[in-house]
Amino acid sequence: MAKAYDVVCGMAVETESASHTEHDGTTYYFCCDGCKGAFEKAPEYQLENWAEEHPGVELLLVE
Ligand SMILES: [Zn+2]
Repeated sequence: MAKAYDVVCGMAVETESASHTEHDGTTYYFCCDGCKGAFEKAPEYQLENWAEEHPGVELLLVE
């Protein structure tokens, strides 16, 4: 079962059932359409923010 972190709110979500979107050839997963919308408005900002707050943490986890 694959899980991914929602880059906007930091929640771990199941990739099979999560909202998702593509950015620069990578698929990102979200807990809800609200987080997905926030990412789509400012993907670079959200990714930078994630990297600053969670150094070295991969967004996609495989369990
Ligand atoms: Zn979320």
